[in-house]
Amino acid sequence: MTTVIDGNEIGDQITEGVAECTETLVNEGVTPGLATVLMSDDGASETYVSMKQQACAEIGIEGYHYELDADEPAETLFATIDDLNADPAVHGILVQMPVPDHVDKREVLERIDPMKDVDGFHPENVGRLVSGNARYKPCTPHGVQKILAKTGIETEGKDAVVVGRSDIVGKPMANLLIQYGSGGNATATVCHSRTDDLAAKTRDADIVIAAAGVPEMIDGSMLTEGTTVIDVGINRVDADTEKGYELVGDVDFESAKAKADAITPVPGGVGPLTIAMLMYNTVKAASLQSGVDVTLP
Ligand code: NDP
Repeated sequence: MTTVIDGNEIGDQITEGVAECTETLVNEGVTPGLATVLMSDDGASETYVSMKQQACAEIGIEGYHYELDADEPAETLFATIDDLNADPAVHGILVQMPVPDHVDKREVLERIDPMKDVDGFHPENVGRLVSGNARYKPCTPHGVQKILAKTGIETEGKDAVVVGRSDIVGKPMANLLIQYGSGGNATATVCHSRTDDLAAKTRDADIVIAAAGVPEMIDGSMLTEGTTVIDVGINRVDADTEKGYELVGDVDFESAKAKADAITPVPGGVGPLTIAMLMYNTVKAASLQSGVDVTLP
């Protein structure tokens, strides 16, 4: 029997633990605060930001939200980040990506105070992650790590194939998998659009983590019996639904499920964990900045 992993349930478990930590902090006079900044007219970005703000409200984290017109100069965004860096009520800052083309994404990431960088994308935090001393693990790969741990899927000694080499998913995912200790000790292979014979790589894997952004590109023929399949992809494809589209992953769910030992669905797999881990990082940020200890889940 293939286990279909319930990301909502695992996300809820983590959120519950994060809410308890929030209560501890509030009782000590520290209300964790997360500021989201949106500089885009993109509907999907608006949805993601509002989901993050909603999660804050449910947990007891104070949410602050800033919207800038997409055609404002980059300096306006930088000034907003500077203000948030200086605001002691704000422990975490998230600038929703993508930013408009005239704004240099790297400059944005480097402008955020590394202590408030709850996405974990500032070079200082990337460096810490790579060197095995992570402060804030990037939310999506950290969520995948939690899914594996909570489902009892051992990574030690396993061959893990990560499909995708982005800075936000693929690279940090592979880095987490090769770290020493629990949730790590795997042998990670990172594949991308120039990889020769991807199917040969995925067929050799014990764990396949798909983060390519290509609808249903990994199917059962590319997997060996007993593989764990984690589908990070969220792709909108045209469909005869009310919204005119549906969400599918990077994995062809039915054919992959026939081969997999365990598999995450889309939606309801990795997605809920990404938001739960953002809340986790925000509470961690509040704890680090206030000196009030909490035991995160
Ligand atoms: P990017 O577009 O930044 O990166 C995609 C990566 O996949 C690139 O490294 C690219 O290779 C590689 N790739 C593209 N096509 C192929 C192919 N045919 N074969 C092998 N590799 C390929 O995407 P992200 O990392 O930001 O996101 C990946 C997916 O995950 C998207 O669907 C996104 O929506 C989803 N996502 C989901 C989240 C969640 O919460 N579940 C959070 C973040 C993202 P190359 O570098 O050579 O171009």
